[in-house]
Amino acid sequence: MGKRLVILGAGESGVGTAILGIKEGFEVFVSDFGKIKENYKQVLLHHEMDWEEGRHTESKILNADLVMKSPGIPDKAPIVQKLLQAGIKVISEIEFAATYTQAMIIGITGSNGKTTTATLTFKLLKDAELNVALGGNIGMSFAQQVADGHYENYVLEISSFQLDGIEHFKPNIAVLTNITPDHLDRYDYNFENYIASKFNITKNQGPEDYFIYDADDPVIENWLSSHSIAAKKFPFSLERKMERGAYIEDKKIVIKTEYNSFTMPTTNLELTGNHNLKNAMAASMVATLLKIRKETIRQSLESFQGVEHRLEKVLKINNVTYINDSKATNVNATYYALESMETPTVWIVGGVDKGNNYADLLPLVNEKVKAIICLGVDNDKIIDAFGNVVDMMVETESMNDAVQVAYRLTEKGDTVLLSPACASFDLFENYEDRGRQFKNAVRNL
Ligand code: ADP
Repeated sequence: MGKRLVILGAGESGVGTAILGIKEGFEVFVSDFGKIKENYKQVLLHHEMDWEEGRHTESKILNADLVMKSPGIPDKAPIVQKLLQAGIKVISEIEFAATYTQAMIIGITGSNGKTTTATLTFKLLKDAELNVALGGNIGMSFAQQVADGHYENYVLEISSFQLDGIEHFKPNIAVLTNITPDHLDRYDYNFENYIASKFNITKNQGPEDYFIYDADDPVIENWLSSHSIAAKKFPFSLERKMERGAYIEDKKIVIKTEYNSFTMPTTNLELTGNHNLKNAMAASMVATLLKIRKETIRQSLESFQGVEHRLEKVLKINNVTYINDSKATNVNATYYALESMETPTVWIVGGVDKGNNYADLLPLVNEKVKAIICLGVDNDKIIDAFGNVVDMMVETESMNDAVQVAYRLTEKGDTVLLSPACASFDLFENYEDRGRQFKNAVRNL
């Protein structure tokens, strides 16, 4: 028998790891404390592996040689504590999967912009006809794709939870989009711990690797001023020119490496907002480092429409534009959404607040927002924060109501923006459900 691999959590990354584990000759046991989704259960049954749900049987877990913990399970979970006390190695899916591939790895992390940047990077590589897969937090797990086994490049969206469980994982190209407070409940409410977790993406990189990051982000710059990293640094900035890296000059994106430079007018981009300029700079930086032809990069960037639920233009009705930014679950994402508004805005906001501080939004709201529609069970904090700044505030409890009220409050030329700055669990299943309900309500107007 091979070594015993125990997998905690049977979601996308757990099931993918199980398949790869079997392929690599491990004796695999999958344990999920909750209920396993039917489609994943079918996969476990199909591979005839040993698994359980609704419990963690310690006798079958504490005899592991190696444990893969799914990202949703906190270190504080009693079973994880017992494993750590017993000295058993607990790693994440990316750590496990990376052991079994020689492919080029592009790892993308950050508080906001991971999905957009990873999706765009994937498109750039695909349009250049590279053999590339997109994985991690998006779509199919990295482990499953490694098990399928024929990719030469991986673009991975990587969360801080995945980075907490690495030992040797080393992306050839790492991208750090930004760092703002998020998920602090998993980091003992200590921002420093969360920052350290994000920078784990660089910890095994060597001088032959690349690190691409937002040089305008004070948290990143501050960390870099007191820590050294081995990879070659390629910063991007909206504010200043870079000798090596990416910046904006005369409404053009400029990308510079030691050997190469690339420019493209920002007006040719479909994407809007300063944050998306940053995402576009980061992705084109990756493409340039991989020596993709300039013309291919330009064409690929021009035809990128963005990702659903991220500043997604839904419809124009009576010359009012409706925008779905349901994925904005924190203040920083909403900041960029408001910043990109060009006409008077009716803003739909609210939900489950993860400790939001709305102060940063006040100047933008003052300048751009004509009415606020609160969409949450508890809206007190929003009313307190903006009551003095915006004349019109309305509380609603369903998406249909919110959209109907927005419709009534708008005039020709306005924009209706759903950018909640909060999680969605009080009134919706998740942010996708919230975004879809918004789009349906708009289409039914
Ligand atoms: P993530 O995968 O990190 O959650 P997404 O690309 O899904 O990032 O975007 C999440 C939210 O953040 C969306 O509302 C989007 O408009 C906004 N956003 C995207 N890129 C950035 C960025 N670079 N900085 C700040 N906010 C961003």
